Amino acid sequence: MLKIAIQAKGRLNEQSMALLADAGISAASGNRKLISKAKGFPMEILYLRDDDIPQAVAMGVADIGIVGLNEVAEKGQAVDRVMDLGFGACRISIAVPREVPYTDSSWLNGRRIATSYPNILAAYLKENNLDAEIHEIAGSVEIAPAVGMADAIFDIVSSGGTLIQNGLREVEQVFSSEAVLIATPGLSEDKCADLDKLMFRLNSILESHDMKYVLMNLPRTSLDEAIRILPGMKSPTILPLTDDDWCSLHVVIPQSELWEKIEQLKGIGASDILVLTLENIIR
Ligand code: ATP
Ligand code: MG
Repeated sequence: MLKIAIQAKGRLNEQSMALLADAGISAASGNRKLISKAKGFPMEILYLRDDDIPQAVAMGVADIGIVGLNEVAEKGQAVDRVMDLGFGACRISIAVPREVPYTDSSWLNGRRIATSYPNILAAYLKENNLDAEIHEIAGSVEIAPAVGMADAIFDIVSSGGTLIQNGLREVEQVFSSEAVLIATPGLSEDKCADLDKLMFRLNSILESHDMKYVLMNLPRTSLDEAIRILPGMKSPTILPLTDDDWCSLHVVIPQSELWEKIEQLKGIGASDILVLTLENIIR
């Protein structure tokens, strides 16, 4: 049976549980226990602090885990990154007090940088031939410059609001992160088979997030043109309407192309266009 480690509480907990729920997997009982047996899949769920997930997976205490790529990179444990999950996006950046005359990264030479990500920072400094002092602190990194503990910080940014509140400005975006699924290298054949099943479900969910189901009424005379505009998954579905001059066209469109395609379809007479959210695409 697969054991999956997820964050016990914090920013990734809810979305990790929601993703599993979309895949038909739920925790059997109250989720404040360390381990619970899942319903809907042969799996046990292990609730850990996110810092501990890379090591738990590297050691095989858990077979797989959902954690931020930032923690995976920082901890440097030997795990396989098997899938990017599309939530928990953030970046780790260098920020300096607003009034500092920072023009380029050479300003960092000889400065003290406070961070909870010393390994990622050290790699960045080395790669850019910079010589700064790394001050590792566990939390509240953003107050370090104001209290005189550091000249700059290296910390997680998502909207940038916290930096502004603390009089800081982001000057270097160093690392981009999102939640990822990681696995113990060399899982047994049985576990690999279960992991493949899980990934099949997750892929169909993630793929559906990028797609919209679109229905519209179309003059029959515009059908050939519409098919050229919309290649669809195989081909669009066309249903008759009681008015013989019109038909109903159903198609799945990637979110990124949605508005451009809708404008083109409107241009050839499409009307009453409905755009629906998809839950799964099973191929
Ligand atoms: P734990 O108690 O599990 O150690 P934590 O306090 O270290 O939790 P959280 O703040 O819950 O961690 O963040 C978990 C992860 O969420 C981060 O490592 C990162 O991958 C992701 N994340 C996304 N946006 C943000 C953000 N704005 N601030 C912090 N983390 C974020
Ligand atoms: Mg943590």
